[in-house]
Amino acid sequence: MSLLTGPMRHHLDGHKDLTLTKPVLKTIDPDVVWIPLTNGNAPCKAVVNIGDEVKIGTKIAERNDRFFLPLFSPVSGTVTAIEKFMTSGMTQAEHLRIQNDHKNTTVRAFEPFDYEKASWEEVLDFVKNAGMLGLGGAGFPTYVKYLKPENVDLFIVNAVECEPYLTADYKNIEENISLLKTGTLALFKLSKAAKGCVAIKEDKVDQIAALKETFAGTPIEVRTVPNLYPMGWERTLVFQLTGKRYGMLPIEAGCILNNASTAIALGNAIDNGMPITHKYVTVSGDAIKNPQNVLVPIGTKAHEIIDACGGFVENMEDVLLVAGGPMMGKAIPNDQFVIAPQNNGLTVLKNIKNEEVKCLRCGRCTETCPSGLQPVRINFAQKRMDLEELETLSVNDCIECGMCTYICPSKIEVTEGVRRAKRFLRAKAAPGGKK
Ligand code: SF4
Ligand code: SF4
Repeated sequence: MSLLTGPMRHHLDGHKDLTLTKPVLKTIDPDVVWIPLTNGNAPCKAVVNIGDEVKIGTKIAERNDRFFLPLFSPVSGTVTAIEKFMTSGMTQAEHLRIQNDHKNTTVRAFEPFDYEKASWEEVLDFVKNAGMLGLGGAGFPTYVKYLKPENVDLFIVNAVECEPYLTADYKNIEENISLLKTGTLALFKLSKAAKGCVAIKEDKVDQIAALKETFAGTPIEVRTVPNLYPMGWERTLVFQLTGKRYGMLPIEAGCILNNASTAIALGNAIDNGMPITHKYVTVSGDAIKNPQNVLVPIGTKAHEIIDACGGFVENMEDVLLVAGGPMMGKAIPNDQFVIAPQNNGLTVLKNIKNEEVKCLRCGRCTETCPSGLQPVRINFAQKRMDLEELETLSVNDCIECGMCTYICPSKIEVTEGVRRAKRFLRAKAAPGGKK
């Protein structure tokens, strides 16, 4: 099956009105932040010692395996410990504890940078050393995708934000549109692309007008896409804008993409000399008292943010807390994890337990899948651990959009079954895994 042959006709109720027009809460200033010493599955090594004083913008850690990524302090204060606990990705990781002195002493992390005069190599070096990473969810070091930009037809800044409830990118753009311009033009230069665009959903009328005004006279077009889910996913967006599909990476379809918040972060590094220290996070759902966006230091614990938003409307045990949006986010069993750079939402929902019933063989999950898969067959084959059948079902084309679970009338966790199938295939493909 090829990718994106599904109909993708689902307009989900976005619930974005809960937070879209409210001001961003910026007063959360935790006594302690915990910086996850991890980037994806790769560990980062602290470059400060216990007892060191740090400022906002001090380099505190770096990833230094086959990729490089520096991390910077989001508060001023003292490094007091390194401890291991669970991340928002539900893995164990070391976290660097920084006691906040609430003085907000700041150090400009980078020298002023003129990306227009700089050579391509200098822009690449700047993006690398400024610690830019994918803020849309992946958290991957940004410079890596620009290392060999050959035959790029289209550079895309993704401002689609299609997940229900989430409006963090929208608010970030609203408040930082000139930084978005700087970062987008710098990344466009780096991409060596023939054309560039900012992609946004067609219903965001006011923001479309603001973007058109901002990018007037530049090579960047503003392109609108239908208000459908999962339009913001890279594969779907590339297909929508170019009609092309790809196997592993968007560059195979002549595209390079970055999230709008990543472009804004780069604009902030170029214009203000500051690295990624804070994050816009949407706190929303039907089980949080005051849904709103917050701007918090990286490393703020989820429970402090939830308290600042009035707390849960139910007891914690009757609430489903999701790191991210309800479709692609991860349900987390407690609120003790911290905000990492790639976290863009905390969705808090009433935990209504729907009794799962037998599959009706209705085919709705197959009709709906934007990747053209047969989720029901994958689920059955996964339960039987039928490697032979799974290998014929293009399981790895699943983009984990959650639509098959959303649509299932039998309340089966179909997406979870597909995820398990992916893990099963990965384990079998690992050295020594295949019998
Ligand atoms: S989560 Fe389900 S609907 Fe979405 S791509 Fe994967 S199999 Fe298809
Ligand atoms: S949507 Fe649910 S009930 Fe229908 S075929 Fe898929 S898994 Fe079965």
